[in-house]
Amino acid sequence: MEDIKKEGEARSLNFLEEIMEDDLKNGRCESILTRFPPEPNGYLHLGHAKSICLNFGLAKKYGGKTNIRFDDTNPTKESVEYVDSIKNDIKWLGFEWAEERYASDYFQQLYDWAEELIKKGLAYVDDQTLEQIRENRGTVQKPGVESPFRNRSVEENLELFRGMRDGKYKEGERVLRAKIDMAHPNMLFRDPIMYRINYIPHHRTGSKWCIYPMYDYAHGESDSIEGITHSICTLEFDVHRPLYDWFIEQLGIFHSHQYEFARLNLTYTVMSKRKLLELVKNNFVRGWDDPRMPTICGIRRRGYTPESIKRFADKVGVAKRDNIIDLSLLEWCVREDLNARSNRYMAVLDPVEVEIEGWEQGKVEWFEAPLNPADPEGAKRRIPFSGKIYIERADFMENPPKKYFRLQPGGEVRLKYAYIIKCKEVIKDADGNITKIICTYDPTSKAGAGPWRSVKGTIHWVSVDSAEKLEVRLVDRLFTEPFMGSIPEGKDYKEYLNPDSMKIITGYAEPALLKDDSGIAVQFERTGYFMKDPDSTDELHVYNRTVTLKDNFKPQNK
Ligand code: ATP
Ligand code: MG
Repeated sequence: MEDIKKEGEARSLNFLEEIMEDDLKNGRCESILTRFPPEPNGYLHLGHAKSICLNFGLAKKYGGKTNIRFDDTNPTKESVEYVDSIKNDIKWLGFEWAEERYASDYFQQLYDWAEELIKKGLAYVDDQTLEQIRENRGTVQKPGVESPFRNRSVEENLELFRGMRDGKYKEGERVLRAKIDMAHPNMLFRDPIMYRINYIPHHRTGSKWCIYPMYDYAHGESDSIEGITHSICTLEFDVHRPLYDWFIEQLGIFHSHQYEFARLNLTYTVMSKRKLLELVKNNFVRGWDDPRMPTICGIRRRGYTPESIKRFADKVGVAKRDNIIDLSLLEWCVREDLNARSNRYMAVLDPVEVEIEGWEQGKVEWFEAPLNPADPEGAKRRIPFSGKIYIERADFMENPPKKYFRLQPGGEVRLKYAYIIKCKEVIKDADGNITKIICTYDPTSKAGAGPWRSVKGTIHWVSVDSAEKLEVRLVDRLFTEPFMGSIPEGKDYKEYLNPDSMKIITGYAEPALLKDDSGIAVQFERTGYFMKDPDSTDELHVYNRTVTLKDNFKPQNK
């Protein structure tokens, strides 16, 4: 388990903060401008949340700003649905962007700069197929082979590139490549592709363009157009940085600088949009916002709060080397937040009925309890008690071990906020299953009715007649494997789906639960935190388990 730093403990600057402070001090920039650059080809996940917290958090710390820029340069996989969900998720996390930009806003400028590079003899149109280009790139040990089209004249290149733009050629027939060095030790410098033809309509520019810039060409140039001072991305882009710089330098435009940090990896979680999309498409989950998904909309539905995610991002910190964070750190963060803020209710998830002997038929007594124990003087809820209640099956044992302090034959237990009861008789069906427990109660044992009497066990309960029936989704880890670093050789991550990742059961709750308007997850006392699900209707009340009160996950195959 990760070391959990004490709250408020001073920490030293991370390497990005050091760079920014130094740049500000030495006048390399006047203010900080970062950007969060999602490709709208899927829903955001916790890894993106980390990047969002970092980009927005750093800018805020230094009085700067952050743009959101949709990296929409590949119409094949992108859509407006994703754009909208991404904006929604960032707002939900509590961040405001300075400007909403799209790489597609810059298509004309990027095109003009590409012509400029052609005119400088730094780009050419290649007629080779993509396979030929790939084959001729060589390997790390072996230099690449120059394209037979590499030495076309500027005029011919301009004419062909304009022809590409004007839709004269088929997809894959021609590409524009930078003319750098086919023997360069950095493979990315072996005449990287700058533009390819694609006739799929774009979600913003429609059919205006049929050529689209590649990441390495579009990204740095877009950063430069916006005046981004610190372009933060994940570690795998460090080999791209020299190319990022090369394009900017050849064009002589504003020099943004790229910095890399380690991407967030979490145990028991896959976190790539491609894999998450697969889970959705194959119906392994109910959608992108399934509460088992590590997407922002999924964990929101599950009951995670923006505060808990921000705290998590902060605790994870900024690393320069890849690492894996234990999922229990994330769970710890949400527990901490909900423990301080969430309202409490009693709900019984695996009920057995208890009959209170001597209770006047039809009589209902109301008890009061604080909604949040952290605020004992704050709002209260009223809890009805009557002659029939549910308790958890696990809170009764017929032949208990020594240190079992809950209900047992002849034993006493306190019903939270109410009376002490004593087990008198156990009723079973023909198969020996317990169907009912008969208890007596001590009328002087409720608060204020006599001297306070302590018993060792206190359990939660729900009065049968006024119980609200719930559909409870016991959300758990989606995978049985922690995937420490990578998926085992020859295996598919889908083989490790946890068959018990969402058990659906019927539970019973005290009636005040349905009036809860806190908007965040509630605590079912002694059980865990639960969030009302949007599948709920007036008749059906659906709750997702956000997290248990304690860490009790046991992988199936261990
Ligand atoms: P995926 O591999 O899941 O598709 P991606 O990197 O392709 O992710 P983008 O939409 O291109 O997704 O990413 C937007 C930003 O989020 C990028 O700056 C990227 O570096 C960052 N990001 C993506 N995944 C992670 C992660 N696991 N940890 C930290 N940052 C991430
Ligand atoms: Mg990507």
